Amino acid sequence: MKISRVSVWGLPLPLAEPYSYSGGRLTVTALDSTIVRIDTDDGLHGWGEACSWGDSYLPAHGAGARAALQTLAPFLLGRDPRAVDDINRAMDFFLPGHWYAKSAADIACWDILGKFAKAPLWLLLGAEKAKAVAVNSSIPQGTPEEMIANIARARAAGYKTHSAKIGGGKIAEDIARINTITAALPEDENITFDINRAWVPARAVEVLNSVAFRGWIEQPCETLEQCAFVAARAPQSLMLDECLHTFDDHLAARQMRACAGIKIKPLRAGGLTKARRLRDFAENAGWQTHIEATGGTVLADAAAIHLASSTAPANRLASWLCHPHLTLDIAPGQGARNTNGFAAPPNLPGIGVAPDENILGKPSAVYE
Ligand code: MG
Repeated sequence: MKISRVSVWGLPLPLAEPYSYSGGRLTVTALDSTIVRIDTDDGLHGWGEACSWGDSYLPAHGAGARAALQTLAPFLLGRDPRAVDDINRAMDFFLPGHWYAKSAADIACWDILGKFAKAPLWLLLGAEKAKAVAVNSSIPQGTPEEMIANIARARAAGYKTHSAKIGGGKIAEDIARINTITAALPEDENITFDINRAWVPARAVEVLNSVAFRGWIEQPCETLEQCAFVAARAPQSLMLDECLHTFDDHLAARQMRACAGIKIKPLRAGGLTKARRLRDFAENAGWQTHIEATGGTVLADAAAIHLASSTAPANRLASWLCHPHLTLDIAPGQGARNTNGFAAPPNLPGIGVAPDENILGKPSAVYE
């Protein structure tokens, strides 16, 4: 089986509501997604997606993904898409880095592998059955009262795990957010406060030692070294997200005892092939994980939920879904969707999401 065509779409994805985080430093109103369809000479095809959370969240750029895929396409054509490790070795040889762009091609190859094997990805990734995973809300930064009202709306949709965005402003404001929001949270619900790297280490240590909250604190500072400094001086467990990219970053985090949990995002890792390695490492490290898309449609969400579903329950906390935040749905009714706080991966060959090409329109580039 050989790759015969690579089609690429640039797809603007407006958010239903603007989203502010990291002390208001970062506000996102629309996402810039890249959808990839890979066709093969024997008629099978697969779908992948690369979509970051705006341009300021990660070193991942929508237009950059399309440019990188233009460079990569000649090296993908003629290769066997089922050989996902060799596909990744080839992509890394001909274009080092640019993991986010490669994630779309890698995920499309996994979709083809699943269709060839007539097996859903959760099975190929090691699960006995399609286990539904808990999904978590994502609460943009606001006043404590606004955030509590937002959590109540998420609760009405079945969410019992929440990720609340804080950081920035006066120290007293972050302390008030943590104290007021946790006091209003029912006993059977969990919350992570995600700072999205807005704090410097001294501020993180001061805030975290001034609150009674003992749950998860996520990405307090910019770098791994800064977060490790905080981890050694704060009573909460740290979850790391934006500062982890390569396998070596994860190894360093383990050696530095910088965290007890990590976010695994196929976009940031470079696709499912590398995200699977990080998942295996996390299980071995005893870390707890959130495995989820960085952004994108139900296609990117479903790819991540297959990996989350195949992860040991003890090492899996919850997964966020991006598609409920969007005004555009490219595969209505399909994929991993929230059902009373849980999402199950599709029980179909491959990812199990077939985007409607009438909605996608004409591809922005075709390589063959
Ligand atoms: Mg985060």
